[in-house]
Amino acid sequence: MIDKDNTINSLKNIVQDFVDEREWSQFHNAKNLSMALAIEASELMDIFKWDTPKSCEQKMSNKESRQDAIDELADIIIYAIAFANKNNIDISKAVSKKMIKNRIKYPTDKFKGNF
Ligand SMILES: [Mg+2]
Repeated sequence: MIDKDNTINSLKNIVQDFVDEREWSQFHNAKNLSMALAIEASELMDIFKWDTPKSCEQKMSNKESRQDAIDELADIIIYAIAFANKNNIDISKAVSKKMIKNRIKYPTDKFKGNF
């Protein structure tokens, strides 16, 4: 299973099937899912805590620590998808609309190469 062969909808179905099989939807609300997402983001950050940019690159080149980071990224995405599923959010529409807002907020003539 790789990105180019999948749609967001197929990932939404995989996550929803997992939740339904365990009857976990009863625990899924905006608070719990947003907290879970933030916790997983913290787990990803913990891998790189106190690292320099160079040691971050080294960790992402190391097989074991790279897999740890990939697993945490997957957890973040899974909770984001679960949040979308629970709240009937179309992820493609949400991302494309937000990117339009981001382009307006950060025009290239002011922000290219700058924050
Ligand atoms: Mg995790």
